[in-house]
Amino acid sequence: MFQKLDIAVIGGGAAGLCAAVLAARCEKPLRIAVFEKAARTGRKLLVTGSGTCNVSNTAAAPARYHGSGSDAAGFVSPALSAFPSERTVAFFESIGVPCVIRPDGRIYPLTASANTVVDSLRMEMLGRGVQENAGVPVTGLHPEGEGFILYTPQGEFYARRVLVCCGGMASPAQGGCGDGYALLAACGHTRTRLFPSIVPLRTDTALIRAVKGLRTDATVRLLLDGNELARQTQELLFTDYGLSGPAVMYISRAVGEWETRKKGRMTAELDLLPQIDPQALLPMLRARRTLSGRTTDEFLTGLCHKRIGQTVMRACALFSAERPASTLEEDEIGRLARALKNWSVEVLGTVGMGGAQVTAGGMALEEFDPVTLQSRKCPGLYAAGEVLDVDGDCGGFNLQWAWASAHAAVTAMEAGL
Ligand SMILES: Cc1cc2nc3c(=O)[nH]c(=O)nc-3n(C[C@H](O)[C@H](O)[C@H](O)COP(=O)(O)OP(=O)(O)OC[C@H]3O[C@@H](n4cnc5c(N)ncnc54)[C@H](O)[C@@H]3O)c2cc1C
Repeated sequence: MFQKLDIAVIGGGAAGLCAAVLAARCEKPLRIAVFEKAARTGRKLLVTGSGTCNVSNTAAAPARYHGSGSDAAGFVSPALSAFPSERTVAFFESIGVPCVIRPDGRIYPLTASANTVVDSLRMEMLGRGVQENAGVPVTGLHPEGEGFILYTPQGEFYARRVLVCCGGMASPAQGGCGDGYALLAACGHTRTRLFPSIVPLRTDTALIRAVKGLRTDATVRLLLDGNELARQTQELLFTDYGLSGPAVMYISRAVGEWETRKKGRMTAELDLLPQIDPQALLPMLRARRTLSGRTTDEFLTGLCHKRIGQTVMRACALFSAERPASTLEEDEIGRLARALKNWSVEVLGTVGMGGAQVTAGGMALEEFDPVTLQSRKCPGLYAAGEVLDVDGDCGGFNLQWAWASAHAAVTAMEAGL
């Protein structure tokens, strides 16, 4: 015999946990179960924002969302309007997690702890009688009569409504996998091309390796055949494989997309002194020649991190422990200024899904109703979160989509039950 459910939520991540809480608050007594493949629910949530969980952003407008197939901004609009960042803050307040809005618009739990977010979602869900089936993957899904049969290693379940929120492929160590795509494909849905987003970049490391582990504020510009695709000023992290840190993660989507085609030459142009106007830099560098006791290998120490300065000097073939900095010629100062403001690095690609925060691409949006998130192919079937062909910018936009899409789906499911 099947266990009978009103709502089966497949995937106990951000969207799934939020959906379970919202559904359990419905006035009608509903039998709700969450199925989670991993041993515990909310595993990816725990690592979000480096463990601080950037739950939303006050700037979460449709334009901050992308899709690889169709008009993602238009698609997310109804769900975001019905559940904007203010509702996210109120929702978390209602489960005992007050939030703070940082000056840049990013929203975090007051505790700055993802643990408290997961714990509170689970307590609310379990306290309201939701059945949590952790360590129970759904391996098959078939429409049956007015509902669906779910196949799991623990047996079969029958659910009147099914919400698929299995997430995407990003970060397999935190549960990223393709199960959601397969479950929806089995019900007639199609998937768009996938590529990693919010992801570190692999670059030519000839010079980068010398500064691995160092962080600096920088403006990073991504250029395809010399044409600027994106730019971001923020902290940049040099690694042994290339570039990471927010300055790169924010604009990495363009590289992920390029990588699927690999047409043209992608470069990253680094401005290592974004605070200093190009016109002001030349006189500054000229004046440094009078600093006492400096050789050219130490010329930039103090203007930038010692190792970064030395690498720039090397790149300009000016690194010497013997040559006094006072002997630097005007053309050499010009070369240095250009290297500091326009250090060009060949981009090879991203580090892939393993290091990505988000999957770009997913289940085709035109096959779902944007207001209800109900399948247009299979009535009673819904999808929310990253499994759909929606990815947001870095900064709380992806979790905002998870909450807002879960809310849209639950509102519609409840109305029909
Ligand atoms: C390191 C990192 C940091 C991030 N930081 C932020 C941040 O600060 N702010 C932000 O907005 N976004 C952040 N993100 C992105 C954000 O975590 C995701 O966009 C969001 O979790 C997607 O929610 P979801 O519910 O769609 O999928 P997920 O949270 O990935 O949940 C999907 C769940 O489904 C389960 N599942 C899969 N297949 C099955 C199956 N067959 N049966 C049962 N269960 C299944 C998975 O195990 C998983 O638990 C970060 C991502 C990473 C990797």
